[in-house]
Amino acid sequence: MNIDDTLINLVYVIAAVLFIVGLKFLGSPATARKGNLISAVGMLTAVVVTLGNQQILSFELIAVGVAVGALVGAVVSRKVAMTSMPEMVALFNGFGGLASLFVGWAALSVALVKAMSSGIAVDNFSLVTIFLSILIGGLTFTGSLLAYGKLSEKISGRAFVYSGQRIVNSGILLAVLVCAALFFQDSANDNWLYLAVGLSLMLGVMFVLPIGGADMPVVISLLNSFSGLAAAAAGFAIGNILLIVAGSLVGASGIILTSIMCKAMNRSLSNVLFSGFGTVKVSAGPVIEQGEVKPMSAEDAYYVLEAAASVVIIPGYGMAVAQAQHAVKELQGILEKNGAEVVYAIHPVAGRMPGHMNVLLAEADVPYDLLLEMDQINPRMDSFDVAIVIGANDVVNPAAREVESSPIYGMPVINADQARTVFVLKRSMATGFAGIDNPLFFKENTRMLFGDAKATLGSLVKSFD
Ligand code: NDP
Repeated sequence: MNIDDTLINLVYVIAAVLFIVGLKFLGSPATARKGNLISAVGMLTAVVVTLGNQQILSFELIAVGVAVGALVGAVVSRKVAMTSMPEMVALFNGFGGLASLFVGWAALSVALVKAMSSGIAVDNFSLVTIFLSILIGGLTFTGSLLAYGKLSEKISGRAFVYSGQRIVNSGILLAVLVCAALFFQDSANDNWLYLAVGLSLMLGVMFVLPIGGADMPVVISLLNSFSGLAAAAAGFAIGNILLIVAGSLVGASGIILTSIMCKAMNRSLSNVLFSGFGTVKVSAGPVIEQGEVKPMSAEDAYYVLEAAASVVIIPGYGMAVAQAQHAVKELQGILEKNGAEVVYAIHPVAGRMPGHMNVLLAEADVPYDLLLEMDQINPRMDSFDVAIVIGANDVVNPAAREVESSPIYGMPVINADQARTVFVLKRSMATGFAGIDNPLFFKENTRMLFGDAKATLGSLVKSFD
């Protein structure tokens, strides 16, 4: 190893340390921005050193590429609405997968040319890692594009399940492996390679098709993990240690997040991947007992809130849509001034991305110690005078406990219905992301405050004047 190599590896170690420290900081909303910045510095260092060392392209071309990429990234992240973040993450995952596919493919071409000129065949380890980066990268690309389409509602978000789907997917996977083996035998015949790439792309679509509804968060974090694994395989393919480290970090953190999401929904991963959320029909008879909906005005709700000694606020996706986090904080302050204890109950899949509610409430300066997780709040829910549900629907749906035929039966939810009085702030009787009815709206102790959440909160705040 010459001095240059030693120096490069040293910089790689520093970049890897920056990634790990960055990840650590991402663990809390208070330090997340710093974590993001530290990881970005690590990535920039890695990119500069790698490209500078390899002299693959002219520096002018690299500078143009970095400028274009940075510009597109900056514009897109400035413009994206917080509620569309999962779609953007899906696209990022997809393009990460596509990049790994290209890296693997390029590495294959280089290895074959080298083998031809030296007369020494490409070793099996390189071939396997190259094909893994092509396979995982390809399926991550198309799977993520489909997930993007489902999340952004450009196509139906429903699960599409057909019998024999597991057999078909296993068959495609097997076919990719057979194509890879045939290509290894006869690398002059590119057709096997093209077929393997095509089948990998197809596998991504077939993999995500049967997943839909409330299971989408799980598939996004799983695809995130896949994009990391594809990058790690590409790292092995081109012998880049840092790509292996970065890919493994993404792969591991993605799979940990997937497992946390599955736990939050009380589902096993195989159940999420193969059972097809939303394909079970809830109707066919009066499964959900529907009573009378009791609308209430903000002015009338004031009298209940004014007398409340303890209030739990349960935010959901609608709070993000209404951008009502500042209004919520204002109401919290008024209720506290009035002598009430106020806490927030946060469901792990509330909103449209992990930590969505935490981020919004942090933006409004709500103290972290007031945010309680489901396990902390549920045992004491019946002690609260009022539960204010703000644009949440699926995460407070008691059908998860009470209606065995419901697709979300068994998913842990925040038991808002067990508070003495429940105020639900939403615009209509529309369903949430999972597209299923919510018996909470018909319970004896529930009052519906119809309207945009921010406007309703504004009226509640005003009535305290
Ligand atoms: P839901 O999607 O179940 O419900 C949101 C509710 O907000 C709707 O019923 C809607 O009713 C209401 N709403 C929308 N806009 C407004 C507004 N301006 N003012 C007031 N209310 C509004 O949200 P939850 O947070 O309860 O549940 C999250 C769901 O999303 C789960 O099913 C989860 O699995 C899924 N998901 C979660 C992801 C994550 O990582 N957290 C990622 C992808 C999906 P109305 O139209 O009547 O106002």
